Amino acid sequence: MKQQHLQLDNNKRLRHFLTTEGLKRDLLVEILDTAESFTSITHQQVKKVPLLRGKTVVNLFFEASTRTRTTFELAAKRLSADVLNINVPASATNKGETLLDTLRNLEAMHCDMFVVRHQNSGAAHFIAQHCAPHVSVLNAGDGSHAHPTQAMIDMFTIRRHKQEFHTLSVAIVGDILHSRVARSQIHALSTLGVPDIRVIAPRTLIPAEASSLGVHVYHDLDQGLDGVDVIIMLRLQRERMSSALLPSEHEYFKLYGLTKEKLALAKPDVIVMHPGPINRGVEMDSSVADGEHSVILQQVSHGISIRMAVMSMTMQHDLHSGQDT
Ligand code: ASP
Repeated sequence: MKQQHLQLDNNKRLRHFLTTEGLKRDLLVEILDTAESFTSITHQQVKKVPLLRGKTVVNLFFEASTRTRTTFELAAKRLSADVLNINVPASATNKGETLLDTLRNLEAMHCDMFVVRHQNSGAAHFIAQHCAPHVSVLNAGDGSHAHPTQAMIDMFTIRRHKQEFHTLSVAIVGDILHSRVARSQIHALSTLGVPDIRVIAPRTLIPAEASSLGVHVYHDLDQGLDGVDVIIMLRLQRERMSSALLPSEHEYFKLYGLTKEKLALAKPDVIVMHPGPINRGVEMDSSVADGEHSVILQQVSHGISIRMAVMSMTMQHDLHSGQDT
């Protein structure tokens, strides 16, 4: 509940975008519809609209990223904002400056929006709790907690291919335990009305709270893929595994890797998604990643429209909203 208040202004409009958890269906649909309205800009000769003219967006990335950072940057530029990319390894945080000091310094430069990626769960919430009233914070991935814009990209991609959410079976396969993407997807899918959300993974990669999220848990890939409309593959997040949770990547691929044979268990018009980066031969075969059912590169393109949508929506927030957490 705390997070929900923090994300909304006094008029229940989006002030920050930190998590898909607790947001109402109408708001998620508004993000999708706004993104839809921005897709045409990509095909114009002048790929810009003036919605964020005069605003300064800071990409504050404490953890590596290519797709997310560049699509946030492109989105901000297409909205005519000025963009600062903070190179965190070279920044003052390495000299012992705290997150709060970094924030205060950037605020002193009159920045309006922080796009934050951090290895610690809760970092974006922390910044949102402490920033000035005119500032919006967008979570670009915090630890294994949330990655809300990625989840909305995925909802957008699903809606473009399947139109309705309330008839779908969606399978999320792989390292659910460490995946901030999976958590954000599960909240969004259930809010948007998907009746059958399946998570498929070895026992060691399923979080204890999985069943309380309203998902069906499978440990067998063949059973889990049976008749699904959408398959979302996840990367093994080795960097977040503190101990050996898997026998070997080869063994993992044999049991959970998506091949053409496994794909045949799903519906004939199934779409295959992956938030990237893909480990070919670990979570999926190249023939599937590059095959006719794959919409993986479309997800990347949709990243720009979704991020434009969230940026423009949050920048319209009521400046008189307090720090109601
Ligand atoms: N790019 C996604 C993330 O930042 C997924 C991944 O890294 O596997 O969480």
